This record gives sequence, C-alpha cells and structure tokens, in this order.
Amino acid sequence: MPELPEVETVRRTLENFILNKKIEDIKILYPKIIDDDQEEFVQTLKNKTFTEIDRVGKYLIFKLEDVAFISHLRMEGKYQICKKGDILSKHDHVIFVLDEGMELRYNDVRKFGRMKLVDYDDYKNQLPLSKLGPEPFEIDYLELYQKLKKKNKAIKTVLLDQSIMTGIGNIYANEICYQMHLNPYTKANVLSKKRVKELVDVACEILNKAILQGGTTIHSFSANGIDGLFQVQLKVHMQKHCPLGHEIKKVMINERGTYYCPICQKAKR
Ligand SMILES: [Zn+2]
Repeated sequence: MPELPEVETVRRTLENFILNKKIEDIKILYPKIIDDDQEEFVQTLKNKTFTEIDRVGKYLIFKLEDVAFISHLRMEGKYQICKKGDILSKHDHVIFVLDEGMELRYNDVRKFGRMKLVDYDDYKNQLPLSKLGPEPFEIDYLELYQKLKKKNKAIKTVLLDQSIMTGIGNIYANEICYQMHLNPYTKANVLSKKRVKELVDVACEILNKAILQGGTTIHSFSANGIDGLFQVQLKVHMQKHCPLGHEIKKVMINERGTYYCPICQKAKR
C-alpha cells in the first residue's frame, strides 16, 4: 500500500504531466471506483483544465479551475499517462481523455481505490478529510502529547491511527520506532513530552527522506504506471537484521506485521 511519501511522489510526478491539460471526456469502465453519480462526475469535470494537485495524508485532490475531485489509491491503484489509442490494460478502470492526444488512466488490480467530487474550497473540512488528524509536518507536539496521554495502547498501533496523526502507515511506523530505539509495545500514554517531540521530529525526518528518495528515483513514468513505490532504505521493516547486525523480530501488534530489534529497541519509554 502506498504511504504518504509514495503518494507525494505520485502527486509531484503527475503534476509534471497533467497540469494545464484539459479533460475532453471521461470513460468509466468500472463504475464502483466512482463514489458519485457517474453522469454528474463526468459532466462536472468535462472541459475543465487541471490547475493543481494537492495531497492530504494519503489522499490526492485534483483541482480543475473551480471544481475538484479526491482520489485514494488504497492497495494497488495507480495512474498511467498514455497516448490515445494505446492498448487498454485489463485493469484500467477510469480513462480521462485529455487534449493533445493524451490519456490519464486509472489502473487498479484490486479495485479498492475510489474517486469522488469534493468542494473546491472546502474539501479539507468535508469527509473523508475532516476526520483526519494533522500530518507530522504540521502537528504541534504538545497537542500530540495530550492525545497520546489518553491512549493506553501500543505506540505502534496509535501511530497508525489516522485520526490522531495522518500519513504514517505500517512501514514507516516500524521505522520510526526503530530510529527512536522505542519498543513498539510501549503504551502511548507513558511517553514524556520530550519523547513525543522526538517522535514528531523523527517522523518528519523519515518521511522527508523517503519523499526525497522518491523524487530522485522516479524521473519518468515506467510502463508499470505511477504508484510511487520505490526502493527506500529501510532499517527494520521486512529486514532480517538491524543496521547493527542484530536479528529482527517480527510480531503482530493489532494484526499488523511489526518488525523491531529486541536489542536496539529495549526502551519502554
Ligand atoms: Zn539492533
């Protein structure tokens, strides 16, 4: 599943290709992807020009002049830039026919991704974005500290709660705990203010590093489309040994695969 850095990479890459392009038509091949009346979706966006792409957490918001729609890639959604007439893939579900002979195609093997029209000015205050907490880049650590005080759950689980802080998925939650030498089972409510500040700093650092790596890895569209996935240097997630050579342990915490180093991550606070 793409996480915040991957979605940010998709956003930046797409901006290079579709800004100032006009939608001439939209073909919806798998209607469930569109979380609206299909006809309304098409009529609202037709003949509009892409002016900006925003991102909030793992959501992309495509803005076109005075209208907007939101898109979540979920498990395997990706966008592809094609030429008109290129052979359709089995999993292409929504085709935005653009001017200058281009097409933006949404491809999704699992079909879990969704698109929906949102209010151009007010989308951050509408569902689904209104229920998301701030991103690590904008959260006030004292506010986070107060929220964590109320959570008698493993920090690993709380980091994945998008209503507290948005944009951290399973991979980066594992990496953040490692970098803090923090045991993932540690209850969120025992962390000191100092540790919570460190948590925010480490989260920003890890996400920013991944965004930078994505930005340098993806120069153009591969034939596989833009899912933003790239090789990131991970220290514990899916690894056998930590950078110090200790054996990584894999456990399930709240049904999510959790990788940690029992030696480096002894700290319970
Ligand atoms: Zn270690």
